[in-house]
Amino acid sequence: MSDNSQDYYGKIHNVVILGSGPAGLTSAIYTARGNLNPLLLEGEPSSTGDQPGGQLMLTTDVENFPGFPQGIMGPELMLNLKEQAGRFGTKILTYKATKVDFSASPFLIWTSESQEPLRTKSIIITTGAQALMLNVEGEERLLGHGVSACATCDGFFFRDQKVFVVGGGDSALEEAGFLSKFASSVTVVHRRKELRASKIMQDRAMQNPKINFLFDSVVRELVGSNKLEAIRVENIATGITEDLEAQGLFVAIGHSPNTSLFKDQLDLDEKGYIITHDGTKTSIKGVFAAGDVQDSKYRQAITAAGSGCMAALDVEHYLESLVD
Ligand code: NAP
Repeated sequence: MSDNSQDYYGKIHNVVILGSGPAGLTSAIYTARGNLNPLLLEGEPSSTGDQPGGQLMLTTDVENFPGFPQGIMGPELMLNLKEQAGRFGTKILTYKATKVDFSASPFLIWTSESQEPLRTKSIIITTGAQALMLNVEGEERLLGHGVSACATCDGFFFRDQKVFVVGGGDSALEEAGFLSKFASSVTVVHRRKELRASKIMQDRAMQNPKINFLFDSVVRELVGSNKLEAIRVENIATGITEDLEAQGLFVAIGHSPNTSLFKDQLDLDEKGYIITHDGTKTSIKGVFAAGDVQDSKYRQAITAAGSGCMAALDVEHYLESLVD
């Protein structure tokens, strides 16, 4: 898929795609099949856990992506999408964009590889979002082994088990409600006395007999070598720390979109997500955004893939409009 990457710096591309999650790779499949010869920067592994392929690379079984009745492993799904994008001629570079300039066309994108920028008539940004994590001992080791940041993805595996959800916002209570369909008990651990979630979500959770609350409580450590066995929780009002048996821990303390590169170039909302309108258009003509980087609400692999398709079609129309 990738030949000599230096070949890509001297010319003006039709479209450069930033990101290699379901949104990026779907937009690559569509733009490649539309003969636009897309170039995709898939990112590169970093010591902070970033890796090409996005959040699904950190998931185990994916059972809700249509078309896989037996489910599929997250990394396998991403490899399949990458292969499919490559089959139609997408060029994939294992680099990150380090700087962009959208002030004039062609747009400029610098990578970690070269001093010279890539030049392109259009861009699809699909750099995704990251679930905020607790950053406590044991969390990284047990991610995918009892620890998750997505109840919709992994909740089903906790049938009749004892699970905990960390957070006090709408996401935490939504996850708790979803998990209560499977788990034997769901305990919401929140660092304050008052929940941040909307009243209606609070009422619903309070009325759910399977959901309990631990207020003024902070998870300090996750215990277990190969799978989660317990969470170490400190009650900050009393100063008492105890280990609570747990088979599952869902972290729901918010997400952060990967948009630091674009903050002076594109309109972002107050949480840093790229604002899109009329499909996948951003505040700059020719720059499109798809997937979690512009969606704080649905955040599913299938919705990301769908918006990647939309972005590809929007790019096709945009490039056609340039030659009219
Ligand atoms: P959020 O509203 O920012 O809530 C994050 C929660 O996590 C807060 O309760 C916060 O505690 C806690 N928290 C943050 N950092 C923490 C840490 N390091 N350790 C422990 N706890 C931590 O995020 P969200 O719940 O993901 O919601 C994001 C947005 O999406 C909101 O606007 C929400 O209304 C919306 N949303 C809506 C729905 C729905 O309507 N169905 C569902 C999901 C999300 P503090 O309260 O102490 O700050």
